[in-house]
Amino acid sequence: MKDTGPIPAGYSAIDGELAIGGMTASALVERAEDTPLFVYSADHLRKRVADLRAAMPKRLAIHYAMKGNPFPAVLKLMNGMVDGFDIASGGELELALAAGVDATKISFAGPGKRDRELDRAISLGVTLNCESEGEFERAVAIGARLGVTPRLAVRVNPSFDLKGSGMKMGGGAKQFGVDAARVPALVKRIIASGAEFRGFHIYAGSQALKADAIIEMQSQTLALVAELTEAIGVPPPHVNLGGGFGIPYFPGDMPVDIAAVGAALGEALDALPTSLSDTHFCIELGRYLVGEAGVYLTRIVDRKISHGEIFLITDGGLHHQLAASGNFGSVIRRNYPVAIANKFASEPEEVASIVGCLCTPLDKLSDQAHLPRADVGDLVAIFCAGAYGASASPANFLGQGPAQEMLV
Ligand SMILES: *Cc1c(COP(=O)(O)O)cnc(C)c1O
Repeated sequence: MKDTGPIPAGYSAIDGELAIGGMTASALVERAEDTPLFVYSADHLRKRVADLRAAMPKRLAIHYAMKGNPFPAVLKLMNGMVDGFDIASGGELELALAAGVDATKISFAGPGKRDRELDRAISLGVTLNCESEGEFERAVAIGARLGVTPRLAVRVNPSFDLKGSGMKMGGGAKQFGVDAARVPALVKRIIASGAEFRGFHIYAGSQALKADAIIEMQSQTLALVAELTEAIGVPPPHVNLGGGFGIPYFPGDMPVDIAAVGAALGEALDALPTSLSDTHFCIELGRYLVGEAGVYLTRIVDRKISHGEIFLITDGGLHHQLAASGNFGSVIRRNYPVAIANKFASEPEEVASIVGCLCTPLDKLSDQAHLPRADVGDLVAIFCAGAYGASASPANFLGQGPAQEMLV
């Protein structure tokens, strides 16, 4: 038997079944008329944002980094709750606009922005987080051609990274941002070009669970901002402090202590030099806001025994939930939180592996988990499916196609 990750708070049983947004798993599947599907809970999203706001300093704005979940209904709901959207492609820009997001609340990071993406963003008044000197030059040329003043921030490649983070995005040679030492010169060029200087974007990593690591990163980030401000002589109007708050996926993982992070950040902001007293600060979070609000539901289509081990074979798989299969940035495969959704209140009584329907041994959703007895027709729930699920998995692999998505 192998342990599975902790089921996120906020999920309970109705009539013995897993309920999401007050509906049982089988009612949700009936509404969707098919499996597999992703279900996102609006209540879960609302509570998450409210709890985070309560923990963070008042001065801090909260942005949604929409990479983790760009489902239109989720974007619309988030638009009413967060202060800004962070995007990383022209495609995300169109999705945000379609969800009603005000373009001036959007900032656009990401290496390799094409001219047509810059063109569209600049003409709408989106803030560009410039990832290089070359991108700055292209933005200025495009602004001149359009007769629009580009709004330019600089993404800084810091010399530190986020300790314990799943994906490091700062520290050393990186394709992201401009090395900190070259930032003052670039900001002076931005100001001299007549573009609107919007400030800094400093992103050091993702999926950290330890409050201490996040506090250290935020304090290093603020120190870097103070240093850059001194070197430039002009304070940044806006500073995006990055994010990196993780969620528990695996056995033993504990949630981030946001009260500790918020308290430390409040003190750090209060201690900033007066040159930064008019600067607006934000954090950008993706998975922390949406990850635990999503559940992937898939149906068991076969049950078989091989060499004495039980396999539950589902109509879903890694083509929708690549990360749960361990093939999205994991070094060691570990089990996500899982359940037999229509037997959520039942006691575990056997050890079984849950696999997908793809003809590859990579397609394992849960390895030797302790579960209630499950048969053909039962529903499997994979939790923590609200981020990097539907949009970050190879849906067309083996001709399968995407899963349905639903906000309830
Ligand atoms: C991926 C990414 C995010 C979101 O990361 P999460 O782990 O989902 O919070 C935020 N900002 C930038 C720049 C990113 O690349």
